[in-house]
Amino acid sequence: MELSKRQEQIIEIVKENGPITGEKIAERLSLSRATLRPDLAILSMADFLEARPRVGYFYTGKRMSELITNKLKDYTVSEFSSEPVLVKEESSVNDAISSMFLSDVGTLFVVNGDACLVGVLSRKDLLRASLGNQNLNEIPVHIIMTRMPNIKMCTVGDLLIHAARKLIDNEIDCLPVVKNTALGNQVIGRISKTNITKVFVALIQEE
Ligand code: ADP
Repeated sequence: MELSKRQEQIIEIVKENGPITGEKIAERLSLSRATLRPDLAILSMADFLEARPRVGYFYTGKRMSELITNKLKDYTVSEFSSEPVLVKEESSVNDAISSMFLSDVGTLFVVNGDACLVGVLSRKDLLRASLGNQNLNEIPVHIIMTRMPNIKMCTVGDLLIHAARKLIDNEIDCLPVVKNTALGNQVIGRISKTNITKVFVALIQEE
């Protein structure tokens, strides 16, 4: 949210003189209280100022970065996850490469006969398997994938910031979003660095 010059002036006045009534702020700006009303409403709604009845306006001390941080802390994986792209463990490297191109993702999740997560395939995993190998139709993905129990995962209820932290700490591009069932982990989504970047942009646009 971009503040107008007048809104910035109001914040400065409240910072220095708060608590201060709307009437007094108007006086200082040589404006009427009515002219100021929309600006005061906006600043209160955006949490820059707090209005207390019969006392006046306080500066909340919250800066834009703090407001953004507060929102980010509430976001969960469920709101931002994308559709996962799955391949079967007996699929060939060739099939996996085709899937990756067709679905335009950078990470595939490998599932067993019960549709439960058993592995992860990244671009470099497939590239490495392709180097010097002529017959990619004959190599099953379960030979080259990163497998359980080494897979980093998240669930829909996890905070997005925790998922982002896992991506950074483990130097990976994508996490499967899983639901634990009696058979194993069903893959119900994915959170990639792209999802996190989209949130970052959305936050700024919202403001
Ligand atoms: P790339 O290697 O294509 O740059 P990544 O950085 O995501 O992509 O992958 C690095 C390695 O980590 C690969 O071997 C991949 O199989 C593995 N990997 C990717 N995602 C995960 C994950 N969620 N959990 C465990 N290992 C992963």
